[in-house]
Amino acid sequence: MVKGRRLYEGKAKILYEGPEPGTLVVHFKDDATAFNGEKFEVIEGKGVLNNRISEFIFQRLMDMGIPTHFIKRLNMREQLVKKVEIIPLEVIVRNIAAGSIAKRLGLKEGEKLPRAIVEFCYKDDALGDPLVTEDQINAFGWASPQEMDDMIHIALRTNDILSGMFAAIGIRLVDFKLEFGREYAPDGMVRTVLADEISPDSCRLWDMKTDEKLDKDRFRRDLGGLVDAYTEVARRLGIKVGGGNDKGSGPKLVKG
Ligand code: ADP
Ligand code: UDP
Repeated sequence: MVKGRRLYEGKAKILYEGPEPGTLVVHFKDDATAFNGEKFEVIEGKGVLNNRISEFIFQRLMDMGIPTHFIKRLNMREQLVKKVEIIPLEVIVRNIAAGSIAKRLGLKEGEKLPRAIVEFCYKDDALGDPLVTEDQINAFGWASPQEMDDMIHIALRTNDILSGMFAAIGIRLVDFKLEFGREYAPDGMVRTVLADEISPDSCRLWDMKTDEKLDKDRFRRDLGGLVDAYTEVARRLGIKVGGGNDKGSGPKLVKG
């Protein structure tokens, strides 16, 4: 498939024009960044793993009726998606205290939260993606009340589906980040869909038996072994990450 012009290069991915209007080719890089780009490293193999794991997760969510931007994986590093207007918010769902909420509220890392908590951060690297309130989102018009309802509903359903999916393979879904976009249909209708990626770069995943971290905290906290950890997540999900345009061996793997 011929991809078009390069439209944007971010910290972890590059976006190209897709073959049809309204589509994009997303290329997953091996670049790892943390602390708003202050920490940087190239970790060979990370992009391939995130492409495969994100494909698997989006496909699973779509099987459960969640609307997403995902169309299909193209090759080891690229996927075809619908181009959407990104809502400038990072939606974080938390089941267990870790990272910024532990610091902010003085909670012990690993403490179970009373229930799943949804947080919103304003997507702005220069400001360090600050936590924002629903009233601020409403007042500044970053998302409409209907979009807020859609995002909260989809975020909590995604949490239920993914918590169960990971628990079945001995992994605790501690927290994760979602991005949403507006998909404009030709008839002018707008729909809120899940966009970007869901991978060990954007989730905290802890082994249920050992509490070993199987996510980007391996990089953030200089623990090493990031590729081994992501490979382990892929293996448990039944994704075979080998050479060539492999299709995987797991029972749930999607064709093509
Ligand atoms: P960042 O921009 O934070 O450095 P990435 O390197 O992951 O992050 O870049 C991917 C960019 O693509 C993000 O800004 C994300 O919001 C955007 N994006 C993800 N999915 C879509 C989509 N379907 N349509 C348009 N933009 C998207
Ligand atoms: N996260 C993300 N991108 C961001 C910020 C957070 O993917 O720009 C994910 C992060 O991997 C974790 C969850 O969102 O799974 C909650 O992150 P937290 O707010 O605790 O941030 P951090 O510890 O990275 O400061």
